[in-house]
Amino acid sequence: MFWRARLKLTASYAAALALILLVLGGSAYFVVRRDLDDEIERSILVARADLLTEPALSAVQLGGRRDHNEEEELELEHVLGAVPTDVFFVLTNASGAILSNPRRVDIEHIDFGRLASGASRGDTWGETSGEHTNHRFLTVPVTLDWGEVAYLHVGRSLDARNNQLDTLRQTLLAGGLGGILLSAAGGFVLAGRALVPIRRSVDTQRRFLSDASHELRTPVTTIRANNELLLRHPEQTIEQNLPQLEAIAAETGQMAALVNDLLTLARADEGRVELLKEQFDLSDLLAGVGRDMEALAELRGVDFMIDLREVQVRGDRTRLRQLAVILLDNAMKFTPAGGRVTLRCTRSGRRAELSVSDTGPGIGREHQGRVFDRFYRADAGRARSEGGTGLGLAIARWIAEVHGGRIGLDSAPGKGSTFTVRIPAAG
Ligand code: ADP
Repeated sequence: MFWRARLKLTASYAAALALILLVLGGSAYFVVRRDLDDEIERSILVARADLLTEPALSAVQLGGRRDHNEEEELELEHVLGAVPTDVFFVLTNASGAILSNPRRVDIEHIDFGRLASGASRGDTWGETSGEHTNHRFLTVPVTLDWGEVAYLHVGRSLDARNNQLDTLRQTLLAGGLGGILLSAAGGFVLAGRALVPIRRSVDTQRRFLSDASHELRTPVTTIRANNELLLRHPEQTIEQNLPQLEAIAAETGQMAALVNDLLTLARADEGRVELLKEQFDLSDLLAGVGRDMEALAELRGVDFMIDLREVQVRGDRTRLRQLAVILLDNAMKFTPAGGRVTLRCTRSGRRAELSVSDTGPGIGREHQGRVFDRFYRADAGRARSEGGTGLGLAIARWIAEVHGGRIGLDSAPGKGSTFTVRIPAAG
């Protein structure tokens, strides 16, 4: 799934760059070509103007006379000297037969007949392509001294221009392809990086879903089995089936707690939980929680100490109460009879500090970073048999964080555990 997404992203990067390069390269190519063509046409137009002056045109005609001699030819060079050397000119009749070629250029392959026929109504631009060279021409109809209509073809070779354009095309093509390949490679790496957090979050969600289904399956299976046992003896009284009914009640309770916790976390993930923030004394709230927990401590034979100092906080009473209950519930659950659980709160600088310590088994270093993860249990069998959902500390961490605080753990195997929550103090 992620490979496909990565390849798709890479292809999009490369396609976007290819499009940009195509537009930029294409524009650069056409601008350069237009400039080169402009320059060629400008030089032809200048030459045309020079050639159509009286002496020059006569000299060209002279070049075409069959009886001209060496001396006249020298004069011809003199008159036509002003025309740039890379522009050449040829005088032909309407059918393309050469009347004059004063520059004596190689014109074998040029079809002057076609150029002349196209220019019967006035100056006309044309191009000719030969095996090795191409030319651009301006063909101008002129009337010779002796009255005959002829055509003056003023032209320039396109070879230099074509070579420049070829080089430019190859450079743009090679640069473009290289750029696309590089960007595809870079895009592949970047897409891989961009997908890492998404992949992690999808993996976490998947794991969460499969853990949740697994957690729900156990109580459902137990309820179903006990129900089947009950259905086998419909004639029996409730009292006779008390163990099955108690098991169903216990599993239902476990399932309800789990569904409740799942819902809290799902809402927290979506950011849909509304917190009622108000200012109050945290020690007051914890005193109430402590009173409620005393019965449980007594039941378990655990010594319960409470040490609370006044500290004002701004927060959601219900959620902070839930946080304290989670920590105390765990402490009571994991501390053996004869042990001690201590609930403290105090102000430390600009923070309110709430801590729950116990003299229980402690948590190994390898588990400490993960006990706040959803469904993580350091001692799976024991935790489940104690009725935990495996979501308590994940919820506790979320509550601490939405209050702008953090939760920390200080523990070592055999030395008990201390969970400390620090949130900003008010006032
Ligand atoms: P659970 O419902 O299993 O208690 P929690 O998220 O509250 O889930 O706790 C996660 C795990 O952290 C527990 O399963 C247990 O292994 C460990 N743990 C939490 N509190 C304590 C504690 N006070 N002493 C020892 N282990 C604890």
